[in-house]
Amino acid sequence: MKTERKAKRPGAAKAQSKTASKKAPATARAKPEGKDAQRVFEGLGVSPGVGIGKVHLRESGDIQLIEYQVPARRVPDEIARFRGAVAKSRRQVGKLAAKAERYHGAAAEELGYLFEAHLQMLKSASLIGGIERRIEGGRRNAEFAVMAEIGAIAENFAAMDDPYLRARGQEVREVGLRVVRNLTEAGYASFSRLEPDSVIIAEEITPADTALMDPRQIRGFASVLGGVEGHTAIMARSLGLPAVLGVTGLTGGVQSGDTVVVDGSNGRVIVNPTARCLADYRRRRQQLAREVRVLARLRKVPAVTRDGTAIDLQANLELPRELAQALAAGAEGIGLLRTEFLYMNRDDLPGEEEQYAALRGLVLGMAGRPVTVRTLDVGGEKLASSLGPATEGLNPALGLRAIRLSLKRPKLLETQLAAMLRAAVHGPLRILLPMISTVSEVVEVRKALLKVARRLKRRGVKIADPLPPLGVMIEVPGAALSADSLATVSDFFAIGSNDLTMYTLAIDRGEEQVAHLYNPLHPAVLRLVQFTIEAALRARIPVSVCGEIAGDPRLTPLLLGLGVRELSMTANALPRVKSRILHLDIQAATQRAQIIMDQSDSGRITALIDDFNEAL
Ligand code: PEP
Ligand code: MG
Repeated sequence: MKTERKAKRPGAAKAQSKTASKKAPATARAKPEGKDAQRVFEGLGVSPGVGIGKVHLRESGDIQLIEYQVPARRVPDEIARFRGAVAKSRRQVGKLAAKAERYHGAAAEELGYLFEAHLQMLKSASLIGGIERRIEGGRRNAEFAVMAEIGAIAENFAAMDDPYLRARGQEVREVGLRVVRNLTEAGYASFSRLEPDSVIIAEEITPADTALMDPRQIRGFASVLGGVEGHTAIMARSLGLPAVLGVTGLTGGVQSGDTVVVDGSNGRVIVNPTARCLADYRRRRQQLAREVRVLARLRKVPAVTRDGTAIDLQANLELPRELAQALAAGAEGIGLLRTEFLYMNRDDLPGEEEQYAALRGLVLGMAGRPVTVRTLDVGGEKLASSLGPATEGLNPALGLRAIRLSLKRPKLLETQLAAMLRAAVHGPLRILLPMISTVSEVVEVRKALLKVARRLKRRGVKIADPLPPLGVMIEVPGAALSADSLATVSDFFAIGSNDLTMYTLAIDRGEEQVAHLYNPLHPAVLRLVQFTIEAALRARIPVSVCGEIAGDPRLTPLLLGLGVRELSMTANALPRVKSRILHLDIQAATQRAQIIMDQSDSGRITALIDDFNEAL
């Protein structure tokens, strides 16, 4: 039986906040006149717009601690889960330590010591061994074992006379709570109980956390960690929540209840803004709302270029609740439904009925327009606790993720395929496979699809006839380079420029420290995109772009010039892309794309794109 206890979280950032507020971090331009003075922090503006509200500092929340028995056969899995959480904690502390180096003088030194101490604890054989013994011997879940071991150590420290050693007890607790938070991945359950007009400030916000945010209550968010094309950023854009990630020193520079502005367009977080600054931002927010209203009038206008080429504009959906937004934006279909939402923030796996109900709702909601459903794409930064430690590895982005996981766990794939086949009875549905790298993976999925179809028919269950088209994401460089072969086994292609950029340039899309190097306009990425489009056109199969570049109006002329006629993007971006299409000439865009593809420097490519857009 599960019992719940509350562990008071002392706040991992407390030590950081004390030191950091004494001395401003390198990127914070702070007025020295006291803690209520305006402070400006800079980071990566990942989701445009202006959010104004009161800070909800995540570090001040409580953790719900769960205790339960682990059966003997599950002990190795539990230990693996614990080790995964320790590895994640080490990565986080390592990143925080690297960031602290950019602070000035004493703050850098103090934080350096603190994080080094945390890292040592996370590597301590006696601490790790003690916890594992509690899991193994006591058959208790990892969260409980961590808190029990940490509690015992902290008590010993607390009994010491020396204030320095007493303080170490507090640090041990902070480390333990970090590991528990990574085990439960449930730090944000309290999002549902937030005050209206809250702005969430945290060390890290995961895609699963973002899925819990209600844009009617939350005005925006900002965090210390996170990159520009990670899924947290993508979710923020699709929910229309202004967000700034990768903000050095942020959690140390705010307190819950502070007034804050999140300027997602310019990558700024302004804490305790002056009256004048606040008034400026309120005006800016109104102006943006006006622009959105004007663009909304394009909803029913067909997306046709000046010289008469029709472009199919579709929406990417992260969560079913975005359907209304997609329809309001005039989407011609759903070009990418990320099914990860079904697996997030839960301990069990969704069954066929639940998945069928969710998909049927979307297919019916789109009223005859196509819905492209992607099979599960967890792994890498998108982790689902219900799938256990299988998706975490030494190098998760290159590990057992997406289609590889689905093929390794056939039940997972077959359940999804069955739900899709049934939902396809209610309207046009296409099946899309993520992270494909070889022809044999597609062949294997097709076999599974036929098997599931036969089984459903035998049971007398109604399924789509003919079977839905089966397409592949082109998001691995190897897939792009073998696009001709993949086209022989695929019914359509969808270019995933987010992962394609990450894997081509070896830049983690969710990593703020290398975010400045992440560039889909790198000639290597563009050549792979071009190669894929040409292979699809030769094979006469449809090809779309559904990575984030599809929603950037600045890149619309280039993509159309390369031959794409189908774009899928976050619904919020659709009106601006449509507006750009209405102004451009496909012939001119094609000529400009040819010139761009002759370039070897991404700076020159950017200039050629900007120059073309300015002339529109
Ligand atoms: C992509 O990689 O471009 C893509 C659309 O998939 P995701 O962002 O979900 O990885
Ligand atoms: Mg991808």
